[in-house]
Order: sequence, then C-alpha cells, then structure tokens
Amino acid sequence: MKRLIIAFLATGVAVNAFAQVKMKPEETEVWNPVPQVVTPGDSYSKPPSDAVVLFDGKDLSKWESTNRPGKAAGWKVHDGILTVDKKAGNIQTKESFMDYQLHIEWRIPEDIDGSGQLRGNSGLFLASTGKGDRGYEIQILDNYNNKTYVNGQAGSVYKQYAPLVNANKKPGEWQSYDVIWKAPRFNADGSLKDSARVTVIFNGVLIQNNVALKGETVYIGYPKYLAHDASPIKLQAHGDPSKPISFRNIWIRKL
Ligand code: MG
Repeated sequence: MKRLIIAFLATGVAVNAFAQVKMKPEETEVWNPVPQVVTPGDSYSKPPSDAVVLFDGKDLSKWESTNRPGKAAGWKVHDGILTVDKKAGNIQTKESFMDYQLHIEWRIPEDIDGSGQLRGNSGLFLASTGKGDRGYEIQILDNYNNKTYVNGQAGSVYKQYAPLVNANKKPGEWQSYDVIWKAPRFNADGSLKDSARVTVIFNGVLIQNNVALKGETVYIGYPKYLAHDASPIKLQAHGDPSKPISFRNIWIRKL
C-alpha cells in the first residue's frame, strides 16, 4: 500500500507540475487595493527603423499555431487587422526571442458582452514555453468598467502583479502595450539564475515597472520556473464566450 501511494504521488507530481490541483483559482486572486483610473493618451506607434514587424496588417506569415507548430496560425486577417479565432487556439511567432522591446495594439469590440474574466479575455505571452497557455502572460481584458481581481485585470502580470493604475480605454478604441522584456536565465542544472523582468506601458502610461517575475503564469497555484531558452511570443485565444478581440501594428526590437 505504501509503495502504491508513493508511486501515485510521484506520478502526480510529474503530471501536475503546473496544475497544483489541491488549490482553487480563487486562492491566488487579489482584489485590493484597486488601481486608480488614469485617462490615457495616444496608442499608435509607427515602427522604428530597426524594428522587426511581426504583423503589418497584411498576413500572418510570421506566425503559426501554438498547439500545431508548423501549421498556419488560423486567425482572421481582414481590413488590416487581426481577429482572434477562438476555435483555432493560441498563435505564436515562428521566431524565438530572448530580450526585447515590443509594441502591440489591441481592440475590444465596441459591443463586448460578459463580465469579470469573461469579457474580451486574451493575453500577450512574453515567452511561450509550451503548448496551450504555458508561458508568462500579460493579461488582455476589458477593464474600462469591469471589475475583476486586480492581479488579473488588463496589464497585470497575470496572478503576479496588478497594474500600477487602470489606463484602459473604452471598448471599440485601439489600445497599446509597449513592453520591455528581459528573459529569465537558467544555470546548466536547470535552476534559476536570474528572474525574468518586465516593464509595461499601457496606452502611454507606465503600469509595470521592471518587476521580477515569480515564474511562469499559472491559473491555479503559485508560479514557478522551468528552464527554457529563447521562446516565441504568443497571443491567447481564450475560451470565454464573449466576442473576439482584434490586434494590429505588432513590432519588436531585439535587445
Ligand atoms: Mg488572458
């Protein structure tokens, strides 16, 4: 019996390295203090001369399916923008990156429905470390007038850091993230050498100031690191039933 239990536990640990099934999602939600509302300025930023343009409104040639690497990304490009196809799943860049500066613009549909986490949920994964939602997520959500846990609102490092302020624009308006990402570094034995760090500017307003990530994003339980190298950048096709959001003008500068 004892051996059986040990075998079961060992399997459980291996399979559920990220699931931490004994906890509930609510246990890692933070609701206070609520970030102050700030009215932002402009969002559009023309790519600088040394940027690599990841999406210019024409096609998804720089992107692929996350769960089926090598296969087409499968989201809809129309009218110079990119709209999430929830059935197609997450998409990611074909190229992998370490440290970078990234600009991305996104728009919640004007007639968005739903509430809490089920209102325009998507996400920018700064490094995609595996299929599905593996990686480090900056939350994308409509929080113009929509309450949720603060470490899960737009611009949060999901379940790690709430944004410093709430700089959301109204649904229907284009918004932007400008991100400075320093990838984590690992020792040869896989242990963490240096934490990942991120700075995020939301619609021209600083909301994450060089914060040190605690590990990969997890929905249930606590974040942890697992060694990885350069990684793709990923966009989330979240399963919430609200209308899909759109993206445009995505560019990157390698650092
Ligand atoms: Mg999300």
